[in-house]
Parts: sequence; C-alpha cells; structure tokens
Amino acid sequence: MSEPMIFIISAPSGCGKGTLIKKLNEKFKIFNSISCTTRAPRDGEVHGKHYYFITPEEYDRMVENGDFLEHAGFDNKAYGTPKKPIDDALSDGMDVLLEIEPQGAFQIKEKRPDAVSIFILPPSVASLERRLRRRAEESGETEDQIQKRLKTAVPDLEKAYNYDYIMVNGDLDKAAADLTEIFTKAKNGGEGLEAFTKESMKKTIDEVLENA
Ligand code: 5GP
Repeated sequence: MSEPMIFIISAPSGCGKGTLIKKLNEKFKIFNSISCTTRAPRDGEVHGKHYYFITPEEYDRMVENGDFLEHAGFDNKAYGTPKKPIDDALSDGMDVLLEIEPQGAFQIKEKRPDAVSIFILPPSVASLERRLRRRAEESGETEDQIQKRLKTAVPDLEKAYNYDYIMVNGDLDKAAADLTEIFTKAKNGGEGLEAFTKESMKKTIDEVLENA
C-alpha cells in the first residue's frame, strides 16, 4: 500500500467542486478536513460537519498556539485547517483531502512539498457566471454577491499555474473520471499525469482567462 498523502483541491466557487469531491469520496476512503472559520454558518450548514464555526478570539488563539496547518484571511473572514486531525488521519494511514483557496494551498505546499495540489477550472468564465446565477436563485444571493464572487474568481483562475495538476469541470462524468485518475496516479508516483500539468493545460488556462 502506498503512503497516505495530502491532496489539496482549489476552485473558484461555482466550479462544481463539491459534487466532484463527493464523487471521489464515494470511490475512496478519504479523510476530509473540516476547516475552522469565523464566518457565520449559511442555511443548512452544520458545525462540525461543514465547518467549525469559531469566534475571531478563538481563531486568534489557535493561530498563536500553532494549531493550524495553514490559515488565511480574505473577504473580512478567516479560515484555517486544523493540524491535529490531519496528522492523526495520516498516522492512521488515510489520505487527506483539503478543499481550500490558493493562499492556503501555497502555505501547505511550502510545509509539505509532497502534498498534491489540484486546481479545477470552469470551462469558461461565462459558464461560471451561469452556474453562480443558477445557485443564487436557489440560495437567494443578491446581484452584488454574485458580482463579488465573479470578481474574486478571475484573479484566482490565474493561480491555476501554480498547481501540480489542472483539470476542467465541463462535463461532470469526464471531470469525475479525471479527478479519479489524478488521485490514483498521484498515489502511484504521478506517472501518466502529463495531460494535467501546467505545460499541457496552458492553452486551456489561457483561453479561459482571455475570455474572462
Ligand atoms: P466559503 O466561505 O464559501 O465556504 O469558502 C470560501 C473559500 O474559502 C473557498 O474557496 C474555500 O475553499 C476556502 N476555504 C475553506 N476552508 C478553508 C481553510 O481552512 N483554509 C483556506 N485557506 N481556505 C479555506
């Protein structure tokens, strides 16, 4: 059996990463890290399942104590990955999955260069906007909030270049198969994943960015 590994997945919101991660979890036994955040829970979000919802004071204390593997502040909110559950899962032989944004992803890669980072691109910024609008209809998000999400999404897309592997979520079945392939092959040393490296994906990334 191969060594347990840390996988980092980043994607702008509206890329459908939640569905892809769910599909990956149906196939493999993975420890999904639960982050701490100072933001308020949204409708249906459960403390200890989606996030640990903590106060800014608790967050500061955890930073001071070195309890986070990475932590990042943006949008006036703070997020952090608790270190201990990850160390425990790895010692138990489980692969760990972190769903975090790029600042946090880079911190982890610095501390644990053997972690595998994956960036999920939308097929286009127009499709990202469509998905965000569809979701906003369900959640009741305002136009302002949609615009804010789009504004942060585009600069985030450029950061795809700093990830080990880059994939597109256009067709869901194809994307789920791609993520499975990246996961299984990365666990076997990364051979055969050339199609997902920045060199191979450059044209795709540039096209998404050019039409942003
Ligand atoms: P949301 O508030 O919509 O749940 O998440 C906003 C962003 O924060 C997403 O891009 C998500 O991946 C990222 N995020 C969630 N947890 C963490 C964390 O522990 N650390 C970092 N750096 N980002 C996180």
